[in-house]
Amino acid sequence: VPELPEVETILRAVAPRLERRRLLEVRFLSRLVARGSAREIAERVEGETVSGVRRHGKFLVLEFESGSCLAVHLGMTGKLLWEAEPGPYTRALLRFENGLLVYDDIRQFGRIEVAGSLPARVARLGPDPLSIPLEDFVRLLRVRRGIIKPLLLNQAFLRGLGNIYADEALFRARIHPQARAERIGRKRAERLHGAIREVLNAAIASGGSSISDYVDAEGRPGSFQLQHLVYSKAGRPCPVCSTPIRRMVIAQRGTHYCPRCQRP
Ligand SMILES: [Zn+2]
Repeated sequence: VPELPEVETILRAVAPRLERRRLLEVRFLSRLVARGSAREIAERVEGETVSGVRRHGKFLVLEFESGSCLAVHLGMTGKLLWEAEPGPYTRALLRFENGLLVYDDIRQFGRIEVAGSLPARVARLGPDPLSIPLEDFVRLLRVRRGIIKPLLLNQAFLRGLGNIYADEALFRARIHPQARAERIGRKRAERLHGAIREVLNAAIASGGSSISDYVDAEGRPGSFQLQHLVYSKAGRPCPVCSTPIRRMVIAQRGTHYCPRCQRP
């Protein structure tokens, strides 16, 4: 499941190729993937020149000179592949003047949408975990109530974290996934803020995590899964204290943690 580091990796590969290039044609091969009318999406952006490409949480956003935005969410299994051969799971084709961007998605939970500016539901997501200042993060934790793990997954709290990096950050910060946000004191909040940035930056440097079948825009897998400390390691010894890593379900998500290192 692509999270912030995977989308950032794709962004870095496609942005230099798409910026200042004209989008000639948008074709949807699946109606599920287009959010709204496929024809309207095409009419709005065909012939337009890309003014910038950026990441907003887990969304990849193409901005056009007209101000229109095309937002892509990769869902569970979405891939954006530059100059790839369309295959059985190709759901959309974006033909630019200098090449073809292929959208593949086996499970089709991904979405492509267009709006006159950043789509409202994308714009109202929480702050980016890589750029939120410490003081803002501490304040946000204090005003929120509830269990920390689902809060980290809540895109209105922070945009871009998912199951893998939430588990890895909580382990590095030595905070139990069931800890209550309002009871996380200043010191632990600082640790969590630092751990989130550390784990995301390390993952970006490794090209993301290839857990199921994630690959970047050039078909290359990431390697950060080799540096996971707890995610999907149930029963294996904790790298710090050797206690077996546990798995529990919190808010319907498999959660991995060390019962000794991580305090509620
Ligand atoms: Zn431990």
